[in-house]
Amino acid sequence: MAPPARPYSIALPYSVASAPVPLGPLVSRTEELLAAGLAEGTRRSYEAPQRRFVEFASALRGSLPVFPVDEATLLLFASHYFDTYAPNAASVRAAVFAVQSMQVRAGHPPFWSQFRRLHQLIEGMARTVPVAPDSRCPVTYDMLVAAHRAINHSSVDGVVMWAAMSCAFFGLLRVSEFTARSTSSFDHRRDLSAADLSFSSSGDTPVAILRIKRSKTDQRGVGADVVLPHVDAAVCPHCALLRLASLPRTTAPHSTPLFEICGTPLTASAFNTRARRILRALGFDVSRLTSHSWRIGGATHAARSGLPSHSIQTIGRWRSDTYRRYIRDPTTIAVHARTHMVPHTSSPHFVAAPSSSTGSTARSRRAA
Ligand SMILES: [Zn+2]
Repeated sequence: MAPPARPYSIALPYSVASAPVPLGPLVSRTEELLAAGLAEGTRRSYEAPQRRFVEFASALRGSLPVFPVDEATLLLFASHYFDTYAPNAASVRAAVFAVQSMQVRAGHPPFWSQFRRLHQLIEGMARTVPVAPDSRCPVTYDMLVAAHRAINHSSVDGVVMWAAMSCAFFGLLRVSEFTARSTSSFDHRRDLSAADLSFSSSGDTPVAILRIKRSKTDQRGVGADVVLPHVDAAVCPHCALLRLASLPRTTAPHSTPLFEICGTPLTASAFNTRARRILRALGFDVSRLTSHSWRIGGATHAARSGLPSHSIQTIGRWRSDTYRRYIRDPTTIAVHARTHMVPHTSSPHFVAAPSSSTGSTARSRRAA
C-alpha cells in the first residue's frame, strides 16, 4: 500500500444526505489546516521513515490494512530501522513518532503511551549504542574578537558579515532566524527584514532590538524580541547593527533582508562559508564549526561569564532544558560555580589559623 496521495483525505463514515455548505471546498480547507498543524521541517523529516514503515508493514501484513498499527509490527520495524538505517535510539524514536503521526492522520488514536514494550526496546537501543558526543564546536569570544579585527569594516560585505556574526553570538540566534532559506526565497512574513531592526534604550543603555518573527520553537509565529545592548567593547552587537542600519538601501525596509550582500539575502550556507573562511585565515580550527556554533558559542560564553542557567535559557529562548547540552565548557563552569559556593575567598586553613583571634571571629568571617 502506497501512502495516500492526499494524506489528510477525510472520509465521512456515513453517506451525505444534504451538505449544509459546499463540501468540496470545506474538505480542502480542513486538509490544509490539518497539514499546517505540523511544521514544514517535521513533515519533511517524517517522509522517509513513513515510506519505509508502509513498505515494511505492507509486506508483513499482506492484504490487511497498515493502520491501525499493532505493537508487534512496530517492534519489528523499530529493530529493522535500528539495524538498517540509523543505529541510534534517538533516530528510531523519531521514526516511531513519524509512524504515529501517520496513524493519527489516518484517524486512529496515538499509540506511544500504550506500547510499553516499544519504550523498553528503544531504551535497549540506547544502552547498546552509547550516544555520540555532539561534535559541533562553539565559537569562542576570542574568535569573535579576532574576527572583528580581521574584517574590513569599510566594505559592505564586511559590515553585513560582522553584524550577522555579532548578532548570532550575542543574540544566541539560530541560523534559521537571521538567514533566508535560499538566495531567491526571501519572504518578509517569515525572514528577518530591515524593518525588524529598531533602536531604543533601556535606562542609560542604548539597545538594538531584533524582531524574530518565527523560529523552531515558535511555529505559530508569535515572535520574539532579541535585545542587544551596547557593550563597552569593540565587538558590541548594538554598534554592529547601527553600522548595518546606516548602509544605504534602495528598497523598502519590510521587503529588504536585514542581512544581504550585493542585493542577495544571506543564506545559512553563505554565512557559514564566509565565517569559516574568516576564522580559518586567522588560524582557527574550523573543521567542527557549523552555523549552530554561534548560538552554542554565545551560550557557552554566557555560562563561562557566570550568567545563571535560567538567564541563559531566557536569552537563548529555549523552551526546555536542551540548552544544557549546548554549553560546551562544563569544567570551567563547574569551577566557576563551585568557587562561588564558598561564601568567602579565604580557605578553611586561613579561617582556622591560630593567628586569627577567636572562634567567633572566624565564624563571623565565614558568615560574611
Ligand atoms: Zn554599541
